[in-house]
Amino acid sequence: MIKIENLHKSYKMGSNSLHVLKGINFSVEEGELVAIMGSSGSGKSTLLNILGMLDELDEGSYTLDGVPIKNLNETKAANYRNKFLGFIFQSFNLINYKSAMENVALPLYYQRVNRKERQEKALKYLEQVGLKQWATHLPSELSGGQKQRVAIARAMAAEPKVLLADEPTGALDSTTSYEVMDLIQKINDAGNTILVVTHEEDIAHMCKRIVHLKDGVIVEDKKVEQVRASQYV
Ligand code: ATP
Ligand code: MG
Repeated sequence: MIKIENLHKSYKMGSNSLHVLKGINFSVEEGELVAIMGSSGSGKSTLLNILGMLDELDEGSYTLDGVPIKNLNETKAANYRNKFLGFIFQSFNLINYKSAMENVALPLYYQRVNRKERQEKALKYLEQVGLKQWATHLPSELSGGQKQRVAIARAMAAEPKVLLADEPTGALDSTTSYEVMDLIQKINDAGNTILVVTHEEDIAHMCKRIVHLKDGVIVEDKKVEQVRASQYV
């Protein structure tokens, strides 16, 4: 589903350059649930943004669902992103003056889905995250966990193959974090490939595989069972 080889990324600031990703090799198969860990500033969001086609790589290759990403023009890239990728953010990124249902329906609007179908699908996905009865409420009337569930429903509404979540539980208390991760696990069980950036060990342990970034490279990449086993020897 995802294959990156020898990925490099630097940020240029004036005459300085910060080399953040220094040769990342990484593949994700369809149906995986992968945690990306690493200390603050290690490049987790940078990597996720490149995988999400929100930012460009400097060197190396990235293939998504068999298609090399590097040479896509802007329009193709945007179409591809809308079709294949869904995003979940720490700060939810909901539109405050739109209801839960309108927020969920928004990606469908950009896919030119008609109004009736948009509403039906939005309600269907709100129901899946357990928030159908909150459809007409504004984000300000929802708890943090509910907001994140609306954001997850929105990411799901466009029916992406891959969900990319950057610190999805970063703004939530631990009980609510586990609820959100339960939902992410359920979506993964239904077949979606999901990548979760987190710096919380217990959240990473709710994924199936844990990848550690350090100093611009992957220093550890293990199935969660292997990680657990190595912790108890
Ligand atoms: P955190 O856990 O704090 O979210 P992170 O692992 O997600 O950290 P990144 O956001 O990927 O880290 O940042 C990696 C490095 O690149 C940091 O040193 C950061 O300051 C720098 N950086 C990130 N984005 C930019 C940018 N747009 N321009 C310049 N430098 C950037
Ligand atoms: Mg980050």
